[in-house]
Amino acid sequence: MTDLNLDSTQLDRYSRHVIMDEIGPEGQATLLDASVLVVGAGGLGSPVIQYLAAAGVGTVGIADDDVVERSNLQRQVIHRDADVGRPKVESAAEFVAGLNPDVDVRTHETRVTRENVEELIADYDFVVDGSDNFQTRYLVNDACTLAGTPFAHGAVYKFEGQVTTFDAGEDGPCYRCLFPEAPEEGTVPSCAETGILGSLPGTVGALEATETLKSIMDVGERLSGRLLLFDAMDATFEEVPVRKNPDCPVCGEDPAIDSVQDVDYADRCAIDAD
Ligand SMILES: [Zn+2]
Repeated sequence: MTDLNLDSTQLDRYSRHVIMDEIGPEGQATLLDASVLVVGAGGLGSPVIQYLAAAGVGTVGIADDDVVERSNLQRQVIHRDADVGRPKVESAAEFVAGLNPDVDVRTHETRVTRENVEELIADYDFVVDGSDNFQTRYLVNDACTLAGTPFAHGAVYKFEGQVTTFDAGEDGPCYRCLFPEAPEEGTVPSCAETGILGSLPGTVGALEATETLKSIMDVGERLSGRLLLFDAMDATFEEVPVRKNPDCPVCGEDPAIDSVQDVDYADRCAIDAD
């Protein structure tokens, strides 16, 4: 078995991967060749970015247009007190550079929109949704599903979280199979209004990172077609099957959405009437 061009520092850094039959030097080389876009450098994005960078995913894109606020620090663990007021993509990039020089970080200091989403995801093998709003969630779903790019979905609320992987394949469902349209604006309160347990996005984000690494290396059983629900209060996990909906507006048999331009993301992410 060759070392697949891993140098001695890399063989040392990734030794706990390389030593395992399921990963080995091939798996590590695959990770180093891979590119992943993380949408959102907040509560979910923080552990995702941490673990992808530590595991040696060679290219990590980070898309976020927020600046670090002091109220973020209770859970967004890649940002420090001294980063308050700085763009999150900057402090996130600094964190990665300090952790693993093998990782090439690409920062996208922008909100993900209908205008830029296709170009943003085009350069990446896999996308992680760490966003905190429905508009971005549907944008990521629609663009990834149409482009055939697999992505991990995670969401958190107070003491509860959910995670799944959408494989963008023939048989796998997408987020719209589950929820065809976003809830009415104002009916689902944001994290700023309801609060969130500080460690909860750590659990859910770590699961998203695990799904990402498995997808890249093509090992194990992913959460495709299964929505994993975590209740931190009761300390329970529950699994709900998710089936592909033949009437899904994006991945169904006769989809109404051919492009993100067909959707009005400002209005329940429904099909644009214009
Ligand atoms: Zn679908």
